[in-house]
Amino acid sequence: MKDTLKVLFVASESMPFVKTGGLADVAHTLPKTLAALGHDVRVMIPRHARIKAEHGDELETVASTWIPLGWRQKYLGIEKLRSGGVTYYFIDNEDYFGDKIYRGGNEENEQYLYFCKAVCESLSLIDFEPDVLHLNDWHTGMIPYLMKTRYNALLGREIPILFTIHNIEYQGKMGFTFMQDLLDIPDFYNTPEYLEADGCVNMMKSALVFADRISTVSPSYANELMDAWAGRGLEGIISARRADVTGILNGIDTEDFDPQNDALITAPFSADDLTGKRSNKKALRDEFSLSTTLTTPIVAMVSRLTEQKGISLVQYVLEELLCCEDVAFIMLGAGDPQFEGFFDYIAAKYPDTSGVYIGYNEQLAHRIYAGADFLLMPSEFEPCGLSQMIAQRYGTLPIVRETGGLIDTVESYNEFTGQGTGFSFLTYNAQDMLEAIRRALRVYRDKPVLRRLKKSAMAVDHSFLKAARQYEELYETMTKGLYG
Ligand code: ADP
Repeated sequence: MKDTLKVLFVASESMPFVKTGGLADVAHTLPKTLAALGHDVRVMIPRHARIKAEHGDELETVASTWIPLGWRQKYLGIEKLRSGGVTYYFIDNEDYFGDKIYRGGNEENEQYLYFCKAVCESLSLIDFEPDVLHLNDWHTGMIPYLMKTRYNALLGREIPILFTIHNIEYQGKMGFTFMQDLLDIPDFYNTPEYLEADGCVNMMKSALVFADRISTVSPSYANELMDAWAGRGLEGIISARRADVTGILNGIDTEDFDPQNDALITAPFSADDLTGKRSNKKALRDEFSLSTTLTTPIVAMVSRLTEQKGISLVQYVLEELLCCEDVAFIMLGAGDPQFEGFFDYIAAKYPDTSGVYIGYNEQLAHRIYAGADFLLMPSEFEPCGLSQMIAQRYGTLPIVRETGGLIDTVESYNEFTGQGTGFSFLTYNAQDMLEAIRRALRVYRDKPVLRRLKKSAMAVDHSFLKAARQYEELYETMTKGLYG
């Protein structure tokens, strides 16, 4: 076994407490897996209102103090809870963290500038001296700057920092004076060399400049980020730091998502015995009052409704699909009101063959993964993507666009070799997506091939162990790199 490492994992959300997307899954599963490997990994997130409401009695107070935020004094509470072998620290300030995890605009910028400052202040208040700080996405983006310019010196030691990009689309941009007013940053840093990008300052960029190492959540996305179309203006700094950038493919929580042992689904099943999958399909069909037979394939989506997820492509051709093919469509998602409205329209116009749930529903997500035949994920870009891996684990074949982590996790069906774990298309184009769906529907009618693909998909190892080993390796080189 490797030396025990002490890692503080910092993020804006984490399961099993709060989740709006895949980041919360990773913030839960990676620390849990590293803890099982013998490391002392602790997670620090804001204490959002739900956490107090659901776990208030279990929280232990670690510190209660006031910290400077520019000219202000702001309250900082730190609370602690152990869950699944991992210690969680919660940053408490009810001005900043209440019902809304992300308030949008400058209110959100202020929430997370405070969070960055609070995390740095916490390092001298908690009973834990991390060997590595593992930061995630722009909400933690000013921590490397604060550590390098002030807090390492105050602590009397340099803590190596890994910054992981989960999605570069969201960068935490704001005017320099807004940030300066909260964090007292000298004018000197308002330059392209440091924080400035496109006339404003940018928390993600700051992390990319000041962190010791950078990782992202799939090898393909790591390469894509060096191109302008994916780098979203930060491709220059990422290319310049190419030697420090690593792509580590996420996994999923194979205990939470286990078709043989999932209390949220109608019947258990496995690759060797798929009869239970049929019961799940029937239950799903009944839940959405579809009037299709069990032989009609169900194509489903479980997704944030944003442009990134390729919803525009679905908008273009969904009616053509529903009108021309023997197929049912189920969508679970929330997001852009324009997309929500479109799916409401579909549900009203095609009640027999479509089912739509607008909102966030963890339990329903499990029932959909278990009961559907195909999962559609035509993302414009996808850093890693978890839904396609979960779907594969439940024998639901993904239909994806070849981008980012979708390339690294879905082997497109090859009709000559008979191999594959799903279907894919390359160009971001609605007709190409429709053709990929039609290919999947043709295979659906070829039972031996369908069965083989389901078995292959279910056999893929999506556990977090491989990723955890790679992070372990990376942390070790970081600690050795800086100390000796
Ligand atoms: P992203 O993080 O970009 O949203 P991922 O595929 O990495 O996409 O992760 C999405 C996670 O969120 C998956 O676990 C998926 O099942 C879940 N999810 C997405 N939308 C919903 C929803 N409306 N209800 C329940 N779970 C959802």
